Parts: sequence; structure tokens; C-alpha cells
Amino acid sequence: DDVLDTPFFLRWLTAAATSVGREAARLTDLDSAIGDADHGTNMQRGFAAVTEALEKEPPGSPGAALILAGRQLISKVGGASGTAVRDAAAARRQGARRRRADHPAAAGGRAAGRGGRGGAARRRRGGDKTMLDALLPAVEALGGGTGSFAAAGEAAEKGALATVPMLARKGRASYLGERSVGHQDPGATSSALIVGALAEAAR
Ligand code: ADP
Ligand code: MG
Ligand code: MG
Repeated sequence: DDVLDTPFFLRWLTAAATSVGREAARLTDLDSAIGDADHGTNMQRGFAAVTEALEKEPPGSPGAALILAGRQLISKVGGASGTAVRDAAAARRQGARRRRADHPAAAGGRAAGRGGRGGAARRRRGGDKTMLDALLPAVEALGGGTGSFAAAGEAAEKGALATVPMLARKGRASYLGERSVGHQDPGATSSALIVGALAEAAR
């Protein structure tokens, strides 16, 4: 069984930072096709800040690690993807008021998936060719703690690939209309890397 302790979250964030750094050029390439060619740079900057903050002020709990990471990503990633992280955090706070978190790994995902039901449903859905197309299937695969990280990683990867034939309905790519079809969404691709890092951290 996976132990979701503080070191696990540190391994996850570090592995995600490494993965995003390694794939930054590819993420920017994808963004150059349907965006403004900065997604790799944005994500790399955000995760470099996360890594630096983890070293400077090592968090003492899983929650503190997530808060630290969220803060750095929100302030340093910028762009539409940074905004999406901020929206997820807001939804998470709203959700926390309604029901207490029972599984730390599901917490972030629950924030991303919250729109399945309730008021934010219109904003948090898949099929719009965004990062949610990777994150929502990953949350589904986690199954509130009964699924596996490996399954979540595969689901996110599959979700990212599934954005290729989609028509973008959010963000810059939506300005392209039909011309957005046939390209993989950069945000879904980076999200799949981050979800994929969960399985690495669990090893
Ligand atoms: P920007 O588009 O501002 O340059 P990035 O290039 O860093 O920001 O991020 C682009 C990614 O953000 C897209 O590939 C998409 O996955 C995601 N995105 C854009 N708009 C939205 C949105 N409204 N909701 C969720 N994700 C979004
Ligand atoms: Mg961009
Ligand atoms: Mg930009």
C-alpha cells in the first residue's frame, strides 16, 4: 500500500519538476501549434520555483507541501494554466467547507473534478481540449483512493492523447476554431506528466 506521507509528496513534486523540465521544449512546441509557445517555459518556471521553495522551507505535512506548491505555481506559472490552478484551489476550498478531505491524494484531484456535479459543472468539464481532459480521467482512475497511481497515470496519458481530435473551446487555442483540431493540448500533456510522477513517487 502507498504511504501518503510528507516524503511521498516531496518525491512527487520533485519528480514532477524533473519531468516538466525534461519535457519543457516539447510542451512549448505543442503550444506553438495552437497557442503562444510558452507552456513549457511557464511550467518549467513554476516547478523550478516549487523545487526552490521546498528546499528553502521544507514542509512538515502533506497539506503544507501542497499549499507551498500551489502557491508557487499560482504565482509563477502565469497564463491560462496558472489561472486554472488558482480556480482548482478555490474550488477545493469551497469543497473543504462542505466535506472534509479523507484522502490526501484525492484532494487535488477532487478539486479538479469537483465540477462533475454542482455549480461549477459548466466550467470544470472535459472535452474542451484543456488540462481537464487529462486530470478528470486521472481523478476517476484514482477512485477516491481505491484506484492506483499507475492507473491514474495511464488515464491521464490517454486523456492527453484524446485531445488531438478535439476542437478547443477554452483559452487561446479556442481562437483557432477548427484549426485547433489535430493537435495535442499542451496543458493536458503537462498534466499527464504531473500525474505520471505520482507512480514514480510511490516506488
Ligand atoms: P497561456 O495560454 O496563457 O499562454 P499556457 O500556455 O501556460 O497559458 O497554458 C495553456 C494551457 O492552459 C492549455 O493547453 C490548456 O490546457 C489550459 N487552459 C487554457 N484555458 C483553460 C481553461 N479555461 N480551463 C482549463 N484549462 C485551460
Ligand atoms: Mg501559452
Ligand atoms: Mg502565454
